[in-house]
Amino acid sequence: MSTPSQACWLVRKVFDIRDWYLSIDSFANINNYCRKGQFNIQKAYTLARPQFQKVHWKALILGSTIPRYNFILWLALHHRITTVDRLAAWGIHVASGCVLCSSGKTEIMAHLFFECQYSRNIWSILLNWLGERHQIGLWEEEVVWLTKRAKNGRPRNSILAFLFAAVVYHTWTERNMHRFQGRKTETKSRIRDIVLQLHIKGQQKTKWKKILEGVNSFPL
Ligand SMILES: [Zn+2]
Repeated sequence: MSTPSQACWLVRKVFDIRDWYLSIDSFANINNYCRKGQFNIQKAYTLARPQFQKVHWKALILGSTIPRYNFILWLALHHRITTVDRLAAWGIHVASGCVLCSSGKTEIMAHLFFECQYSRNIWSILLNWLGERHQIGLWEEEVVWLTKRAKNGRPRNSILAFLFAAVVYHTWTERNMHRFQGRKTETKSRIRDIVLQLHIKGQQKTKWKKILEGVNSFPL
């Protein structure tokens, strides 16, 4: 039966959705959305949802962090932070050298995280502070390493993921201050801010308590 043109909006939608459901391959067989011979709304909903490719770093984004850290981390994981190479692609030309170090290297994602001495230094200080022995690699290597750690959900790994997001956020914020406002923040202040934020977040995380008690002083 075709959708009745005189019917109200809601009824027309019900008819349209029926046709849409029947057009999906997985719905061609009624058994796909039945359980023990009965229609099952959960199965129908799951089948109707669009299927996206899963990202390998999901555990990092779903970890316990704070919204501003998570937003910048999300952009970085998608390689969408506006480094000078991306600005140039949009026709915006600014000085291309990294403003955070004296290497003179072009400011691209791979340099900022973690070839640049600035981000590498902060990350290294925080890792040592937490008692982690880890050879810092480049961006993709760090993401793979942390994702592996974050997946098992242990408190230490959740704290590591928090610190990683913080380093990304603070590096990017410092870069913006340097580049657009000509201002600098002492590395020591940035690290103190990260540590304070971690302890504030830890107030909501009883499982972090034991570890945070062991790191109750600033690294510098
Ligand atoms: Zn640099």
